[in-house]
Amino acid sequence: MEFINSIETTMPYFIPIGIFIFGAIWGSFLNVCIYRIPQEHSILWPPSTCQCGKRIPFYFNLPVIAWFILKGKAACCDEKLSFRYPLVEALTGALFVCSWLNHEPKVALIGMVFIAILILATFIDLDHMIIPDIFSIGGMLLGLTLSIIIPELHGFSQGGLEAHWYAWIEAMLGVFIGTSMIYWIATIGEIILKKPAMGEGDVKFLAAIGAFTGWQGALFSLFGGAFIGTIIILPYLLIQQLKNPKEPKLQELPFGPFLALGAIVYFLWLSHFVDAYLAQIVDIFTL
Ligand SMILES: [Zn+2]
Repeated sequence: MEFINSIETTMPYFIPIGIFIFGAIWGSFLNVCIYRIPQEHSILWPPSTCQCGKRIPFYFNLPVIAWFILKGKAACCDEKLSFRYPLVEALTGALFVCSWLNHEPKVALIGMVFIAILILATFIDLDHMIIPDIFSIGGMLLGLTLSIIIPELHGFSQGGLEAHWYAWIEAMLGVFIGTSMIYWIATIGEIILKKPAMGEGDVKFLAAIGAFTGWQGALFSLFGGAFIGTIIILPYLLIQQLKNPKEPKLQELPFGPFLALGAIVYFLWLSHFVDAYLAQIVDIFTL
């Protein structure tokens, strides 16, 4: 700790820049996972290969920068490289830095694992309308385990052995309150809309989010995510409507990315505010 503190006072930008680079390198690996896991290909072998079959040398694999050096085209052939690659890399780097700046080191590191899971689930859901169990169920088990080991994740920084137990209960509450909420909203939604409103994948995904953030985070991800999502989608729908008045407007949208967005906003910026607000409501009901 003292070592970290002394670096932070002498070179305040050193650690954040290092973490951004670290995150961007992980982002590059997340791109591979997003592409390969839904196809059930190995994520470790073969190493980065272009669509044309050629190996990509390491210097063209440099996160974020390579895409700009190559101007969005593969070096070996004329294959176009999606702008999403540098975007995911930069996003991972930036969110890792936010995790570092907003939490104590132990929690910040768990936060990076959590952020990686959210990014993976988001982009796979956007591509395929599924969230693989390895991220939802796997994320839930990981979140529960990390909660026991590092109770600081749920704000228990003192209290010896009991803190581990309390943190685990918080994580379990996150899983159960989160999943039951989303289950009932989906069920009621289905009755009103007369079609499935949410997938089973979303329910399991919210369990993973709840294990990391507790019930307050699960609740915020559900309602805050839907709210932020609406703010983003409404202008988009309006533009579509103006462009193409006759087309049906809303195709099926995955809900996972909005849950992830809510979870990120809660974990990085709003947890204290949301927790205090929800505590007041709980107080009113328990008087
Ligand atoms: Zn190629």
